[in-house]
Amino acid sequence: MSNYKINTKCVQSGYTPGNGEPRQIPIIQSTTFKYDTSEDMGKLFDLETSGYFYTRLQNPTNDYVAAKIADLEGGSAGMLTSSGQAANFFAVFNICECGGHIVSSSSIYGGTFNLLAVTLKKMGISVTFVSPTASEEELDNAFQENTKAVFGETIANPALTVLDIEKYAKAAHKHGVPLIIDNTFPTPVNCRPIEWGADIVTHSTTKYMDGHGSAVGGAIVDSGKFDWMAHKEKFPGLCTPDESYHGITYAEKFSNSGAFITKCTAQLMRDFGCIQSPQNAFLLNLGLESLHVRMPRHVENGTAVAEFLSSHKKVKKVNYPGLKTDPYYELSQKYMPQGGCGVVSFEIEGGRKGAEAFMKKLKLAAIETHVADARTCCLNPATSTHRQMTEEQLEAAGIPAGLVRVSCGLEDKEDLINDLKQALE
Ligand SMILES: *Cc1c(COP(=O)(O)O)cnc(C)c1O
Repeated sequence: MSNYKINTKCVQSGYTPGNGEPRQIPIIQSTTFKYDTSEDMGKLFDLETSGYFYTRLQNPTNDYVAAKIADLEGGSAGMLTSSGQAANFFAVFNICECGGHIVSSSSIYGGTFNLLAVTLKKMGISVTFVSPTASEEELDNAFQENTKAVFGETIANPALTVLDIEKYAKAAHKHGVPLIIDNTFPTPVNCRPIEWGADIVTHSTTKYMDGHGSAVGGAIVDSGKFDWMAHKEKFPGLCTPDESYHGITYAEKFSNSGAFITKCTAQLMRDFGCIQSPQNAFLLNLGLESLHVRMPRHVENGTAVAEFLSSHKKVKKVNYPGLKTDPYYELSQKYMPQGGCGVVSFEIEGGRKGAEAFMKKLKLAAIETHVADARTCCLNPATSTHRQMTEEQLEAAGIPAGLVRVSCGLEDKEDLINDLKQALE
């Protein structure tokens, strides 16, 4: 980890060219890599030396960008995945297999909810959902003998609840398991969960990190702080020999700083192949270079729009943790004193119908299954991303039918407010 400030890290971390080498990260558009002898290649297959042999597992372009994200988060190692979904799947599945259990905040992204509650269940992994505001006791009660991890989102998409990361970390560590935090919305510019006790951080880089709506991607960062060997019996995959790599034990050979990401790359990337294309990694890095410049503007626009909406008579309720009246204001001030993100959600009069009519009238804000890029967009979760959820599940996740999510882009805030104003009227 470098000692530079976050602004400098956004621009410079991860890649340092040597004499006469390209200034910008090169796109290594090659599926495979050449070696002089079979012996050289064999060492790679035994994880004896590090290097590249096939882009299904690793590619240098991706690794430069992953190193930047790891540095931004203050982690020891990182990797890119093909999407945010793949990042969360890998982060959980790397330590939790059939028969395992996880504790998760109920206030999470719809796709992640489905991954945990439906797809991982089919793989024999069970989950207990708890409120993001659960007390220490309620959290404690959610743990089981077979619990392997705790999961939550810093700022939940789309409910915009803020997780008390310290409280969740304390509960996880008390039960000998790591805390995995999806930090997509604030990005490391506004919050670094590892500083508050998180062990693994994930991202949908598709959102603010790319920031221009051009490349789907994900990232996983390991803090390097979780002591796997101290909880050997819980994490056999990291703490006992892997026969597919000549019996190496990840937590011993790569220590706490490298074990998680090495296992994730060597086993899950090898077998599932959810790699980000080097071309997309290059685009992601262009986004990262200006992330620290863009985030404050997203926050400025989000704040202005949230303030406008909360004074409008057709708006029943506004969720934006940066608003003083928001129930998550205190937590947001603690974890994100410079602001969280540009996503605002609000409940409009008239439920689903009201939301549809309003959205049809918008001119600047486009209807999109997307958030967190340069162009303002909006969505009614109950009829789109969260339509698989029952009324009760929607309620538990804090998503009423008339909820509209507006992702404030980088346009002028007055134009954004005027657009919302005419649509509401
Ligand atoms: C979008 C999103 C995801 C999923 O990411 P994809 O890149 O779309 O696969 C996961 N978590 C959060 C918080 C998200 O906003």
